[in-house]
Amino acid sequence: MLNVDLHCHSHVSDGTLAPSELAARAHANGVDVWALTDHDEVGGIAEARLAADKLGLRFIAGVEISITWAGQTVHIVGLNIDEANAVLQQGLASVRSGRTQRGHEIAAQLHKAGIPDAFEGALKYAENPEMIGRTHFARYIIERGVHDKVPDVFKNFLVEGKPGFVPHRWATLEQAVSWIHAAGGRAVIAHPGRYPLAQLAFDALLDTFRELGGEGIEVVTGSHTPDQYDRYAKVALQEGLLASRGSDFHGPKESRVDLGSLPPLPAGLTPVWHDWAV
Ligand code: AMP
Ligand code: MN
Ligand code: MN
Ligand code: MN
Repeated sequence: MLNVDLHCHSHVSDGTLAPSELAARAHANGVDVWALTDHDEVGGIAEARLAADKLGLRFIAGVEISITWAGQTVHIVGLNIDEANAVLQQGLASVRSGRTQRGHEIAAQLHKAGIPDAFEGALKYAENPEMIGRTHFARYIIERGVHDKVPDVFKNFLVEGKPGFVPHRWATLEQAVSWIHAAGGRAVIAHPGRYPLAQLAFDALLDTFRELGGEGIEVVTGSHTPDQYDRYAKVALQEGLLASRGSDFHGPKESRVDLGSLPPLPAGLTPVWHDWAV
């Protein structure tokens, strides 16, 4: 069976490794088909593809787009995209454009909570300053000795009701799906088990996603428990969605799940890669 990992991040967004380092790690871990899916940015794709080609690793260009749905942040992965597509590139640029201002607002809140200089501190961890985000702030909070691990930071900071949370309006679902389709890709709902959406809002997300021609849903991801693999396998079958698998790897010290190390998709699903020449 093919080892397919269609979700991870490089230092072009909020991962810690370069795209070429991720390619080497995926290859070493036995991945056969690999996608780079940086948040709101395709700047790492060329390096990733080159490195994968040299290793004989099949590469899929991807992106993970931040959207707002029912007041919550939801992520839509685009797979097998043409990263040079102008509609996609302009759309992603518009999503990125609010991050610097948001970063300053996050820093102001952290300052009040006793963590000074957080904008500059987070920026040090952002290889791509345009992409400054909560993971970079989490790394700075760790550097300050407030917590040891990223998930612990997210229990006390940067989330709703805690210091450093700044509500933000990302793209719409319609925009994300249309940009992905403009670039010839497939749209996939990322880690559906992670959203604090009411059932009604989640059902509406699925309905609208289907109406817009969205194709897939992540079933086996580093963000899901084994129970959730089964639960979202059922959702994929019921909704007629293709199923995806991806570690959501961010870095060796930060991610519980390594590239290529998840279980296979449950039987009976149609993989999102079923008709790709892989
Ligand atoms: P942003 O796009 O700036 O809102 O940052 C979102 C990123 O923060 C996600 O892609 C994750 O990498 C990270 N993140 C969010 N929640 C958590 C969490 N509970 N534990 C670890 N990382 C998280
Ligand atoms: Mn991330
Ligand atoms: Mn995500
Ligand atoms: Mn991700």
